[in-house]
This record gives sequence, C-alpha cells and structure tokens, in this order.
Amino acid sequence: MDLLSPSIPTPLQQLSNAEIEKAGVQLYIKRDDLIHPAVSGNKWRKLKYNLLDAQAKGMRAVLTFGGAFSNHLYATAAAGNALGLQTIGIVRGLELEGKENATLQFCREQGMQLHFVSREEYRQRHSEAYVKDMVARFGNPYHIPEGGTTELALTGVAEMVFEIKDQLGTIPDFIATAAGTGGTAAGILSAGADVLAFSALKGGGFLQEDIRQLLKECKQPGNLTLLTDYHFGGYAKWNNDLLHFMQDFRAEFDIQLEQVYTAKMLYGLFDLLQKGYFNAGTKIVAVHTGGLQGLIKA
Ligand SMILES: *Cc1c(COP(=O)(O)O)cnc(C)c1O
Repeated sequence: MDLLSPSIPTPLQQLSNAEIEKAGVQLYIKRDDLIHPAVSGNKWRKLKYNLLDAQAKGMRAVLTFGGAFSNHLYATAAAGNALGLQTIGIVRGLELEGKENATLQFCREQGMQLHFVSREEYRQRHSEAYVKDMVARFGNPYHIPEGGTTELALTGVAEMVFEIKDQLGTIPDFIATAAGTGGTAAGILSAGADVLAFSALKGGGFLQEDIRQLLKECKQPGNLTLLTDYHFGGYAKWNNDLLHFMQDFRAEFDIQLEQVYTAKMLYGLFDLLQKGYFNAGTKIVAVHTGGLQGLIKA
C-alpha cells in the first residue's frame, strides 16, 4: 500500500549563505515538510508502520492522544480518514470542549471523535492500566501513543535516513532535528546516524532517557547530542527573536518554518555555527519535520 501517495523521496536541498561559508560546513535541509499536504513530515514517517500494523491486524479504529495544537492528532485524523480507519483523539484540557481551535476543527472535519480529558487525567496517558481502560471504553481500537512514538515509528523514520544516504552519497556527520517526544531523534539514531536533537520543550533533559528507552532493542545506534537551551520559554512558546529568525530564514532560503519546532531547531543550529561548534568540512542535514499547519499568522 502506498500510504496516501506521499512525495518520496523528499528533496534534499543545500543551504548557503555567508554564515555557513564562514563556518566552512556543508548544510542541507531535508524537506519532509513536502511529504504530504495533511500528514506532515515526521508524523507521516512515524504513522506509516503503526497504521500498516493496525490494518494488518484488521483494526477498524485508532485511538491516540494529543494536545490542542497537536500535529500528530491532525495527521492521524487525515490519515485515518484517507485509509477508512475511524479515529478517536483523547485531547489534553477539558476547557477546550466547545472552544475548538483550527487544529481540532480540522480533526473533527476528518471524522475524528474528540474526547476531552483534564490535565490530571492526561498525565496517565502512558499508564498501561489507563490505556487499557480507554481502549475498552471506545470499543477496542488500535492504540497509538502520543506523538505516534512507538518502536514501529523508528522504522519509518529510519527510512528517511536511508533516503538522505542515497541523496548525499554518505551518512552526514550530524542529522539535526527538533524533539518533542524524541521519537524522531530515536528513529534517526536507529539508522546509525549521529543526531543533534533540539528540545522544543523546557526541561528537555528527560529526552535523553526516553530516547535511550526507545532504542533498547537497537544494536548500534548513533550518538545523541541533546540541546536543551533553545526552547524559547517552553512548548509552543516563542518571542520576537524567533519570529524574526523565521522571517529572515524565509527571505533568505524561501523556506517556511513554524514557531513550535523547526524554527527553534534551525535557530539553535545557526547559533552553534556562529559559536564555532562545528569543524570545517562537517556535513550536517537539518530535517524540516513539517508542522506548517500550526504556523501562527504573525
Ligand atoms: C511532532 C513534531 C516534532 C517532534 O517530534 P518527536 O518525534 O515527538 O520528537 C518535531 N517537529 C514537528 C514539526 C512536529 O510536528
């Protein structure tokens, strides 16, 4: 099955400007934002084998978890609709009920059943007993955890690394990605590549252990460097500095970023470049993980 006709391989584009030249590195951007109009970037990569597994098991419905602005809920709703799978989204925040934003409205339009829970209840999303309860309550759908992050997701993300290897003729010295749950970083590491992961959340140090857990079964993962200082105040927070960076990036490279994940990662990467973090000749691929549905209209 070709899952919703994606544009694969996604383009790998070299970026150049004075800063990059001064640092003497080769910087590329993997345009996973172009993979599919609704099932974007890393969410497509992570959902692929989860949804194929659901189909192979003859499941008719999928249940998953996300926040109000979740690119994962958005992608799951669209993919489920296209594949004829019912979708149930457990949404963090009771206060959202009846006050749905554009992301949640889209989910509903795609036929997703939304179920709002309190923040306290949402904290149980990784508890086996709680998930079992919810699955029973909604008629035994296939459970996909928050962010689509499972071991099956790693296989999908690893395919992106193999595309890069083909396109570049080699595995780069670093693959840079934004991190939320760490599933994308873990998937890249599982393919043996070294990763610079930029936490989009405050206090992202926990990602080190979460990513290690995801790689338990993996024989020779790449090395992880976790950057936790580019969160701009926390998840989904930003400031004018970040917005200006996004505008400049677009003016310079004609590539749109968004403020939750990809702009923070590229801001961090350029900051490291300027600080002389990389040796001359280093090959870096930054992954544009998509998420443009959540772009603020600033
Ligand atoms: C969800 C998301 C991420 C974070 O991915 P994880 O695998 O959860 O770390 C990064 N970028 C974008 C655009 C996303 O939507």
